[in-house]
Amino acid sequence: MSDPFQLAQRLREKQQQHLYRRRRLLESAQSARVRVDGRDVLNFCSNDYLGLANHPRVIAALQNAAAEMGVGSGASHLVIGHSRFHHQLEEELAAFVGRPRALLFSTGFMANLGVISMLVDRSDIVLEDKLNHASLLDGALLSRGQLQRYQHNDVANLLDRLNALDGKRALVVTDSVFSMDGDIASLPAIAALCNQHNAWLMVDDAHGFGVLGKNGRGALDHCNLNTAQVPVYMATLGKALGTYGAFVAGSDDLIECLIQECRPYIYTTAIPPAVAAATLESLHVLQEESWRVDHLHALIRQFRTGAMQRGIALPESHTAIQPLIVGASENALQLSEQLLQQNILVSAIRPPTVPLNTARLRITLSAAHTESDLEQLLDALHAALLSCKE
Ligand SMILES: *Cc1c(COP(=O)(O)O)cnc(C)c1O
Repeated sequence: MSDPFQLAQRLREKQQQHLYRRRRLLESAQSARVRVDGRDVLNFCSNDYLGLANHPRVIAALQNAAAEMGVGSGASHLVIGHSRFHHQLEEELAAFVGRPRALLFSTGFMANLGVISMLVDRSDIVLEDKLNHASLLDGALLSRGQLQRYQHNDVANLLDRLNALDGKRALVVTDSVFSMDGDIASLPAIAALCNQHNAWLMVDDAHGFGVLGKNGRGALDHCNLNTAQVPVYMATLGKALGTYGAFVAGSDDLIECLIQECRPYIYTTAIPPAVAAATLESLHVLQEESWRVDHLHALIRQFRTGAMQRGIALPESHTAIQPLIVGASENALQLSEQLLQQNILVSAIRPPTVPLNTARLRITLSAAHTESDLEQLLDALHAALLSCKE
């Protein structure tokens, strides 16, 4: 068989460069302790930041809704797939994040592709942070507008680009919390620049929603930014909320235009109604069990203090994402393997997910962890780093 796309060679190169990716096999529910590849481990790599993915109330809500509504939604939202659970979830999400309306998407990736390509035309400019999530960059490519990437969270660099717009329309797009670094974008400054230059700002709050702000209302609540200041808000439901899907929130006109024109919204099957029901329950648990957000932030402080006491250098991050940058992919893999020997699961993140020579351990904390889980992680990290230096 011929191989015009050189697949075999591509795979070989990835192996040689320590960039080959393998999937682990999960054999238990997502939680602080999981069974992976036949081994019981402490889990520090899930995005289930509040421990809701396996919450009894969320499970029961899914089961009850499935008993009532079945499993498949059967159609797209515009045909006959838009159930009362989807609708109620949209209304409660909009109220929770303090925006006029919200619209559910099947995944965050699709929401980002859809919103950017709905708003932006060929003659427009999309200004994106260099470290934005892949789906935001791909959304700009799909829009056929001109994509420009500004230096990471560099407000002066963004200003230069806004000054050079020359009357063109622009959409500025940023992650709120950067997914591989955990740092928070300078949203108030970015929003102010956008308003001065008549550009719209879109914020992807995948890692801020449920984590930042009052009761986990997200990064815009944390920064006190309203719909006029940030017209396009997007967040996902598969991370802190522990279920699946995503939503976009904004003005009535924005949501209505998405319903009319957004192809990744229109031409896809709605998520199962039971998943929407589970997400509703998860949203209620988040508000009723407010200790979850508080505990997560206490763990973040404990981890950073403990790392400092052990001489482990961490970049500035006050979110659930705590990276430990090691540089070479090989070293990141080796550290991750050593931790696994201690039954601690931390993923090694390598290029092209992160820039060259910044391979890292991406440690994620969850309200499901205990203080002693963290002490165990810190001690194992300390030992692994020492043995790596030898
Ligand atoms: C996870 C993530 C997405 C994609 O969301 P899914 O619902 O998993 O498709 C988008 N943006 C950011 C910043 C993310 O971390």
